[in-house]
Amino acid sequence: MNYTAHFQSCLDDIKKEGRYRVFATLERLAGRFPRAIYHAPDGSKKEVTIWCSNDYLGMGQHPKVLAAAHEALDNSGAGAGGTRNISGTTRYHVELEESLADLHQKESALVFSSGYVANEGALSVLGKLLPNCVILSDSLNHASMIHGIKDSKQEKLIYRHNDVEHLEELLKSIDPKRPRIIAFESVYSMEGDMAPIKEICELAQKYSALTYLDEVHGVGLYGPRGGGVAEERGLLDRVDIIEGTFGKAYGCMGGFITGKSAIVDAVRSFAASFIFTTSLPPSVLAAAKASVEHLKVSDIERQKMRRNVALFKQRLEQADLPYMRGESHIVPLVVGEPNCCREVSDILMRDYDIYVQPINYPTVPKGTERLRMTASAAHSVEDVEHMADVLQNLWETHHQLRAVA
Ligand SMILES: *Cc1c(COP(=O)(O)O)cnc(C)c1O
Repeated sequence: MNYTAHFQSCLDDIKKEGRYRVFATLERLAGRFPRAIYHAPDGSKKEVTIWCSNDYLGMGQHPKVLAAAHEALDNSGAGAGGTRNISGTTRYHVELEESLADLHQKESALVFSSGYVANEGALSVLGKLLPNCVILSDSLNHASMIHGIKDSKQEKLIYRHNDVEHLEELLKSIDPKRPRIIAFESVYSMEGDMAPIKEICELAQKYSALTYLDEVHGVGLYGPRGGGVAEERGLLDRVDIIEGTFGKAYGCMGGFITGKSAIVDAVRSFAASFIFTTSLPPSVLAAAKASVEHLKVSDIERQKMRRNVALFKQRLEQADLPYMRGESHIVPLVVGEPNCCREVSDILMRDYDIYVQPINYPTVPKGTERLRMTASAAHSVEDVEHMADVLQNLWETHHQLRAVA
């Protein structure tokens, strides 16, 4: 077999479908976000404004976060030096986990290499350790949860997105003696909508299910201390396991879970993706802790982001653009066709120095290709006004965009 030709033909297939992924090379400039230098494929460079970053609050360049990272780097060096079990647990890990347990008012917390690894590791272990378990999963759950559930090798039932009636129907259909986990997200990243957390927790109680909530797009952003949407709604104690990331609003990298000590300890003791990998380095952990601690007491960043998001949505509404009207800070604008979606993104970059990555299948279903935009705390009112003007102009001058909408 000609292996090279085979792989090339696989790539040609996705190119034909318009969903071949082209990365934009950026040079983020600490202190200048949402501006960055874009390095084009032809070798040229220019300054652009980022409109699709998950560094929602600009914490990736916050002076306290940078200082903490520098200090830990100088104190402890570059790497952790081992897995958590074999010389790789530093005081930075322990302190961060204490801060996270406090954030969610839980007994315990555990840090992973990323949010993806946290979901994958935790859900696979929880499923595996509960004999004959059923996992109920929202139809729009993130790939990391799907992967973890698959790895648990337990039965999975998918309920329609945010549909509590369907969830109850499925819960009712399960033999009452079987253990069950409901796995869902607080903020759905590609839709921008939120889960009915309270209703889901009530069903969990009624049908004796464990609740597993992905707050990746909630932590740092919602709740008086940045605990997430569950904190904002006064539901922290109703959710059994909360999962989050340092990679989004906290502006760093790494993932975590919080919950009862016995549950967290079980994941610590059985999750392969936690055990068999080098632990995160002190600089990253110190930065993450500084970010978490800062956002427990500072609301300014959240207020600025909320102001920008409200203004942006209001302007899109006035221009009658087809954005998805979720409750969250995420603003997806539906284009509905992959090549057209890429073209709009290319025009924004080429003519307006604005960077928004097109979102295509399999991240979202075919026919719902979109531009997923995030108005961060770091954008100015002028940035938001300008972006809304540009989009309005594009939708008025490109008739095929109107047609799809
Ligand atoms: C980004 C994301 C993750 C993964 O988090 P990382 O820290 O980026 O690995 C998990 N769940 C959801 C819903 C996400 O959007």
